[in-house]
Amino acid sequence: MHSRNRYLNGHDFSALARREPRLAAHLRPTPDGRITLDFTSPQAVYLLNRTLLLRDYNLQHWDLPAGKLVPPIPGRLDYIHALADLVPQAENILDIGTGASLIYPILGVREYGWRFVGTEIDDKSLRAARAIIKHNSFLRGKIDLRQQDWPGKIFDGVVRRDDYFDATICNPPFYASAATAAAASQKKWDKLGVKPAEERSFGGVDRELWTEGGEVGFLRRMLGESKNFAKRVGWFTTLVSQQGYLDDARQRLKAMRAEGRVIPLRQGNKASRILAWKF
Ligand code: SAH
Repeated sequence: MHSRNRYLNGHDFSALARREPRLAAHLRPTPDGRITLDFTSPQAVYLLNRTLLLRDYNLQHWDLPAGKLVPPIPGRLDYIHALADLVPQAENILDIGTGASLIYPILGVREYGWRFVGTEIDDKSLRAARAIIKHNSFLRGKIDLRQQDWPGKIFDGVVRRDDYFDATICNPPFYASAATAAAASQKKWDKLGVKPAEERSFGGVDRELWTEGGEVGFLRRMLGESKNFAKRVGWFTTLVSQQGYLDDARQRLKAMRAEGRVIPLRQGNKASRILAWKF
C-alpha cells in the first residue's frame, strides 16, 4: 500500500461497528484472536465502505443502487496517491467510467482538491453519482458528469474541444461478456469453498463488468483513441489487471511514439498496476 494511504494499518472493525451497528452482524474472529469482517458478504463490504466514506471523508450521503460495483476504498486510494506522485501539479482529472460510487472523484477532491470530469455509459450509475454530488455540498462545482453514448468510445464524444486534463484515470471493465463474468465469479467461489450470499462480494452487474473484447479490448481502444487527444491530456493512465497485456501495450505506445510507464500497486497479496503514457 502507498505510504500516504490512511488505511495502511488496516481497520479497527470493532470501532467501525460502533459507528455503523449493522456491521456487527458481519464481524468474525480470526484464528489469532483479532476481529475481521466477512468480506464474502456484499452487504458487509458495502457497509464498510459507506462507513469509511462518511467517517473519514465527511460525506453526508453515499448510497449505491442494489447490485452496483462496491469499490474497496484502500485500493482506489492507492491509485489516487500514485497519480499525485506522477503529476504533482495536477488540478483537473478525467475519470473514465466513474461508476455509481463516484469513488475516484470523491477521493481526489478530498485528498488533493482536484477537479473532475467523470464519464459513464450506464444511466442508473449516472443517476446515483448525481445524487451523491447533490447531497454533498463540497463536491458541487468540483465534479462534472458526462454521459458516454457509445460504449465502444472512450474519449470521443465526451472530451470537448476546449478541455484540458492534467491526467486521465480509469478502472476498466473487465470481462468480455456477461457470461464470462458470471463464470469467473463462480470459479472464485468454488476455489474459496464458500457459497456466496449474493452473486459477487464486490457487487457489480452486467454492463459494469464487461465490455467488447474484455479488458484488453477496452485498453486497446483507449490507447488508440488517446493519440487524437494528445493535446488535451497531460498523462493518460489506467489500471491494467492482466500483467500479460503490458507487452502489447508497450508495442502500441512505441508505434505511437508515446512515453510509457508502469507503476506497480500492491494490496495485501493482490498485485496490480497502472499503465501511464504521454505524448
Ligand atoms: N470507477 C469505478 C467503476 C469502475 S467499473 C470504480 O473504480 O469502482 C467500470 C465502469 O466503466 C462501469 O461503471 C461501466 O459502466 C463504465 N464504462 C464501460 N464502458 C465505458 C465507456 N466506454 N465510457 C465510459 N464508461 C464506461
